[in-house]
Formats: sequence, structure tokens, C-alpha cells
Amino acid sequence: MGIGKVAQAAVFLDRDGVLNALVLNPATGRMESPLTPEDLRLCRGVVEALFRLQQAGYPLILVSNQPNYALGKCSLDMLSRIHHKLVCELLGAGITFSRFCYCLHHPQGVTPGFSGLCVCRKPSPWFLLRARDDFRLSMARSWMIGDQPTDVQCGKAAGTRTIRIDGNCGGSDPLPVRQHPGPHPDCIATNLTEAAQTILSQDGC
Ligand SMILES: [Mg+2]
Ligand SMILES: [Zn+2]
Repeated sequence: MGIGKVAQAAVFLDRDGVLNALVLNPATGRMESPLTPEDLRLCRGVVEALFRLQQAGYPLILVSNQPNYALGKCSLDMLSRIHHKLVCELLGAGITFSRFCYCLHHPQGVTPGFSGLCVCRKPSPWFLLRARDDFRLSMARSWMIGDQPTDVQCGKAAGTRTIRIDGNCGGSDPLPVRQHPGPHPDCIATNLTEAAQTILSQDGC
């Protein structure tokens, strides 16, 4: 950092349930991460919201837990193809992330080399702190956006402000705000459009 230059603020983003919709897995009856590229659908308003944040000068950094390979639910190649589709859709809209951080581990995984404890799985702030050092970020001025209590914990542990998305990611009717256990986020938003508005207005952009 040069003399007199103010450290930059970044926006850290969770992926599933924030950028793309969760997908109903008929086998479990639960809303889960996409298992194929076809399953990956960006939530409504995401492209516009990311573009506004990018235009305002925030580096965008994705921080996502993707344990499905560790859990034996999909191949590494499939995870990579899902990631590639996301990158292509964003690039097509003129959006460039500064970094994509994926934790591929799981404490109860079954895949050798990807199972057991790791340093990077959220709520660990590990990826955020590495980005702080690499990009010389001001964490107090940065934001972490996610849809899980672990995202809020992660942001708080790294010293960022936090926004929890509490909505249905692209559907027409926002869900009522639910009570989550864990630390309180600084703000709650129903979608990324609202989250971006909060950031831009609080930071006076
Ligand atoms: Mg999520
Ligand atoms: Zn990890």
C-alpha cells in the first residue's frame, strides 16, 4: 500500500442461496447446493447487484463451502463444471471476481484427502484473512454476505460487517424473516439486490 492510500474495502460473497438458488433434492426433500451445471441458476437481480458493487469499486471475492465431493455426492469434475458455468455467466455480464475461494473439505467426509478438519471451512475466516493480506483490505470497511449463520460467524471472525440473506433467492414472494441461531448480522436482506443497496447507501456510494 502506498503512502496515503486508504486500504480497500471488499465484498465477500457466499455462493449457494446468495448468487444461485438452492435446488430441491428429491432424494432428501431438502434444498441443497446444485449437483450439476444445469442445476445452477443465478437468482433474480444478482447480475445487476454484482455489477453495481463492481462499478462502485469493491473487489468481489467468493467464499463457498462445497463438501459434496468430500461427502461422495458428486465428482470433482462436476464441481469444477458448476464453477465454470458460474464464471462464464458472470463474465458474460461483465462481472469479474477477484478471487474464488472454495473449501472442498468436510469433517465427516468419505473421500481421502478431503475429509476431516481443515483450516478453511466456514465459519473459519481463513480465506477472508488471506484475501485481506493479499489485497491489503480494510476488514472493518469490508462486507460478508451469506445466507447461513456460519457466514455471519465467518465475517465477524474476520472483522467485516455482515449481511444475512433471508429470502427465497429469486422467487416472487419473499419468505418471512426467520430466526436463526448464532450471532446477529449487521443487516438482513431478502436478496442480493437489497444487500447491495444497503452496502452502497451505508458506504455513501
Ligand atoms: Mg449459502
Ligand atoms: Zn477446507
